[in-house]
Amino acid sequence: MLSTDGVLSIPTPAIFEPLLKPSRYKGIYGGRGGAKSHFFADQIIERCFLRKPCRAVCVREVQRTLAQSVKRLIEDKLDAYDLRREFRVLTTHIEAPAGGIILFQGMQDHTADSIKSLEGFDVAWIEEAQSLSQRSLDLLRPTIREADSEIWASWNPRYATDPVDRLLRADPPPDAIVVRSSYADNPWFPDVLRKEMEWDRSRDIEKYNHIWLGGYEQHSEARVFKNWRVEEFESPTNATYYYGADWGFSVDPSTLVRVRLAGRTLFIDYEVYRIGVEIDHLPAFFDALVCACEAPRPCLHPEQHGMARRWTITADSARPETISYLNRNGYPRMVPAKKGAGSVAEGVIFLQGFDIVVHPRCTHTIDELTSYSYIVDKLSGQVTPLLADKKNHIIDPLRYAVEELIGQSGEALGYPVGVPEPSMWSTFGGPGSTGKPGISDWSGLGG
Ligand SMILES: [Zn+2]
Repeated sequence: MLSTDGVLSIPTPAIFEPLLKPSRYKGIYGGRGGAKSHFFADQIIERCFLRKPCRAVCVREVQRTLAQSVKRLIEDKLDAYDLRREFRVLTTHIEAPAGGIILFQGMQDHTADSIKSLEGFDVAWIEEAQSLSQRSLDLLRPTIREADSEIWASWNPRYATDPVDRLLRADPPPDAIVVRSSYADNPWFPDVLRKEMEWDRSRDIEKYNHIWLGGYEQHSEARVFKNWRVEEFESPTNATYYYGADWGFSVDPSTLVRVRLAGRTLFIDYEVYRIGVEIDHLPAFFDALVCACEAPRPCLHPEQHGMARRWTITADSARPETISYLNRNGYPRMVPAKKGAGSVAEGVIFLQGFDIVVHPRCTHTIDELTSYSYIVDKLSGQVTPLLADKKNHIIDPLRYAVEELIGQSGEALGYPVGVPEPSMWSTFGGPGSTGKPGISDWSGLGG
């Protein structure tokens, strides 16, 4: 809003705060309803209003008509912020204060010559950047070269191999700030979209993960876990919980995940997942697993704060010094996972034997269960029985959490008598089997 003394204030979802400081590259990727376009539209307006004159261009790979551009979105915002008097909206572009300008262009219409018209621009915002070709990216990057100029990208990912994903996610330049957002980060997520999201979530988990969480499109034959769904549920206070932790720092996240067993159903109700947590911040990070509080803001659920301290947590054994630190700093019951030969495959097969129900707040769990894959042989295209060693920052601690249960009898796990239990399925399970690994093989043996 514009106040009477001319100060512009625009509310921003917390997820975008890292993007408020200057940076050569800024990216937001994620699913529908994540307010990506709204944030950058706000930023364009703010920049044009505060840093006069500002020259900005909004590009996309193909723009047949202006209706496909974000021009309308920016116009709506100028109305909402009562800024129509400061800007001048024309048919093809918008004139900004003090001689600034906002243009809307399709990159496919540009040639090596015509792109020079954008030299001297301060901001280029790439909308729908998943469709941007390498050619367009190569044209744009050297063109936007004013001092302090910035290139922004917003997109809903398709494939890890798309040019924008390779530039800003696979191997981002040092001066890039990239944020993932989904509807869950958007405080203004509209009800009409929420209903669509819930529908997709209950019907088609792969579609939900791609469209709403911004996950990559998947090769479903190679997926390891098909025995799961996303569903809201309450967590009883008097149940037994199992916890698993994994360590990372600069590249991989540190994670903690909590599960509960009820018969053949495994409920995953809480996760924390963050890159760059210093060792002395790990206790506070884990303390917030259930209450989700963030220092220095006060905790809203102090009765749940530090819940994990009271339970056994099975953690990645590769970092004994970290486990030792946590043992001495509030987590005396943390133990190292056993691991050992074959333990990964064994743990995965064990998990495949359950009906897994994931609470919708566990977005990284959903992402990993969706994309955790067997390796596809590059030459033949065949799905091998080998597990790909990636996207396992939640899967690994899930295995650790239930490690003690592997090999226990079905009776101990609360199975109905006469039904094969997961450790027995493991003999027959494997890639290519469906929801319940090994069941079809089992019946084929006349068992
Ligand atoms: Zn708390």
